[in-house]
Amino acid sequence: MDKKRHISIIGSTGSIGTQALEVIDKLRDKFEIIALAGGNNVELLKLQAEKFKPKYIYAAKPVSVSGVKTLESLDEIAENRENDIILVACSGKIGLKPTLKAIENGIDIALANKETLVMAGDIVMKKAKECGVKIIPVDSEHCAIHQCIKDISQVDKLIITASGGPFLHKTIDEIKNATVEQTLKHPRWNMGKKITVDSATLMNKGLEIIEAHHLFGFDYDDIEVVIHPQSIVHSAIEYKDGSVIAQLGLPSMHIPIQYAITYPDRFEGIKSRSFSFSEIARLDFEKPDFEKFPTVKLAYQAGKTGGTATVCLNAANEEAVFAFLAGKIKLYQIYEITKKIYDGHEAVKNPSVDEIFEVDEAVREKTRQYINKLI
Ligand code: MG
Repeated sequence: MDKKRHISIIGSTGSIGTQALEVIDKLRDKFEIIALAGGNNVELLKLQAEKFKPKYIYAAKPVSVSGVKTLESLDEIAENRENDIILVACSGKIGLKPTLKAIENGIDIALANKETLVMAGDIVMKKAKECGVKIIPVDSEHCAIHQCIKDISQVDKLIITASGGPFLHKTIDEIKNATVEQTLKHPRWNMGKKITVDSATLMNKGLEIIEAHHLFGFDYDDIEVVIHPQSIVHSAIEYKDGSVIAQLGLPSMHIPIQYAITYPDRFEGIKSRSFSFSEIARLDFEKPDFEKFPTVKLAYQAGKTGGTATVCLNAANEEAVFAFLAGKIKLYQIYEITKKIYDGHEAVKNPSVDEIFEVDEAVREKTRQYINKLI
């Protein structure tokens, strides 16, 4: 980076956004912040704006900070060609449209938002290719694969690691009766609530398989999941000749965030301590148990079907996770409800963005009605 990189963050007040600002704080001379966009946490957004002095801010609620222009929409950020890169760190489908708009404007994307690829991976990757835009994954597994790949045409398969979440070696009955509190205690990663629940059911891994398929263009049969409880190996690739390249590091989201926003350069940045193999001592791997965690199987099925199948999977799962967090259903019901709704969905091939949003809304409505009948 021979000149300051102009960056905006969509979702600056969330888990990834706040950690990204910690990274930028350590690399102040490398970045100029164009815009910060938050959701409802305007108090935090104001504090961020006062500290980092972006040119623009946007929030879902009215907000004003002296000396900073308040924008009317996320599109205004996505269309602003002052940006070299936009970090899409919000969660949910709200990330999709601004990401597409930024790509159309030739702005590189550091992508932390899973829904963008799960809902519209075909459209997003095609557009990125047409517009010559880089999409650099922030999700630790995909970021790991991105770091491992030198020549993608020589790679045979992708190996995505999963910590296994808090219920890895629990019995099926313990999983069925897990409380919200137990579910939100992730052993390795500190993340937002929705993704922490997805990690406990392993749906997070299912969504990541779909992300990987789109990002790297691999068939689902060439994407493998392996359980690795220590979360040190963040993912790996196997070359045709049997060589395996993995990316390792301490489990901190600062590292993939920094990689994505400074790519292809590397800086000391926020690195807290050196990596020590002898301190880690051992790395374990095991096969995922698809009987206890059937969400992964369902995600493979949805991915292979394609079209709106993954839109349905994502929307039904998210509504079920919200119902679980609200105490309305049990943990295992998230899968049962998602499967029920998924099985009733007729996938539309090659949907437009509008059709994707229509299916998303319809599936959510159907899922909420189904849950209300259950409780
Ligand atoms: Mg991940």
